[in-house]
Amino acid sequence: MNVEIITVGDELLLGQTTDTNSAWMGLELARSGFSVSHKAVISDEPMHLCDALDAALGRCRVVLVTGGLGPTLDDRTKPTLADYFGVPLKLHEPTLKAVRAYFDRRGLPFLETNRLQAELPDGPGTAILPNPLGTAQGMWFERDDSVVVSMPGVPHEMKGLMTNEVIPRLMERFERPFRYHRTVLCFGRGESYLSQQLGDWEAGLQERGVGLAYLPSFGQVRVRLSAVGSDEAAVRALVDGCVEEAAVLLAPYVASTRWEQASEGLGAALSESGLQLAVAESFTGGAIAAALTSVPGASTWFRGGVVAYSEAVKESQLGVPAAVLKEHTAVSAPVAEAMALGVRERLGADWSVATTGYAGPGTTPEIGTAFISVAGPSGSTTTKEFHWGRSRDVNIQRGVTEALHLIWSQLREANEDCQKKVV
Ligand code: AMP
Ligand code: MG
Repeated sequence: MNVEIITVGDELLLGQTTDTNSAWMGLELARSGFSVSHKAVISDEPMHLCDALDAALGRCRVVLVTGGLGPTLDDRTKPTLADYFGVPLKLHEPTLKAVRAYFDRRGLPFLETNRLQAELPDGPGTAILPNPLGTAQGMWFERDDSVVVSMPGVPHEMKGLMTNEVIPRLMERFERPFRYHRTVLCFGRGESYLSQQLGDWEAGLQERGVGLAYLPSFGQVRVRLSAVGSDEAAVRALVDGCVEEAAVLLAPYVASTRWEQASEGLGAALSESGLQLAVAESFTGGAIAAALTSVPGASTWFRGGVVAYSEAVKESQLGVPAAVLKEHTAVSAPVAEAMALGVRERLGADWSVATTGYAGPGTTPEIGTAFISVAGPSGSTTTKEFHWGRSRDVNIQRGVTEALHLIWSQLREANEDCQKKVV
């Protein structure tokens, strides 16, 4: 069942706001068996919304619109949609009550523009989808077997409406086949190399009814295998079988067939073994800690971190000896190792990771050089040296990915050694 998304707002076209709504919607819709076949980002100009709706409804039966529902004059989605469907706007008493209560709870004055938020389309085929998180309501329009839904642009309000109102209604209204995907998280080689490893196997997937996509980001590639069908058990078995086959073909580069994000997999590995992690970050500036703490439940396995940007902090907070800094300079393997050992001991963790490097930008030859060191429970360290390009953002992202995978792989190795001993 195909769905199209239209996101509305001049700020999206100008690049002042990134359209994160449609990405989130795509993921959630796929989980419920709907697939997004087309997206459009359009301006606040009403004519553009009408054109985009004409085009979308010419291709599919469900169109989801976000944005343009604010109380200010620049937001014109509501009257445009009412005109488009030929229904009047009328004061909707339950919404007026809810919007008033919303302002009362916050101790804010209720203005005429806020009253306008309660004027909503009223006619055959329309429904109001309540939005308790804000003042703009969701709106459902139905005509000739097609559905158009309008939601506010504010991401958390849109998410609330999608989860509580829109997806349940779409699932009730439209039959969908079962859709299933799994990911093989790969690390250490780029997509072209991985594709070469898969060779003829990849070419045969289409015939078997399985889709394959490479989703690369700096330092890692997610290989996604997916299938669609009416028999849920058969679709699952098909994809699961292909994941196992891909994992064999890509073996040296597979980090996980269970987790899509290294931070999640690492967190699960630590939590399953009851171990604690600490980080000491120089050029990644806290980005590793941010990636780790974005995982729910991180407090059970993440001890904390030190952003040791200056030499003084490396020395005073992590105990990196001044002589080592002087002899090897701050961007060196011995300093990365001393940082990892220092933070592990000072924060009382089992494992630790440290980064030091020249993120750039610039033209000097050392830009892009970095060292990442992991210290484990035995007190030994594993250190890797990197030579990347000159883009600061990219180098920081690479640093995060490499650090997460380095600790994760060390943990896996330690677990395997442990199991061998037990055997
Ligand atoms: P609106 O409903 O147009 O008043 O949008 C309200 C807020 O949500 C504004 O701050 C927008 O920048 C933001 N917003 C609108 N559309 C999107 C989108 N597609 N992705 C992320 N944020 C958005
Ligand atoms: Mg807007």
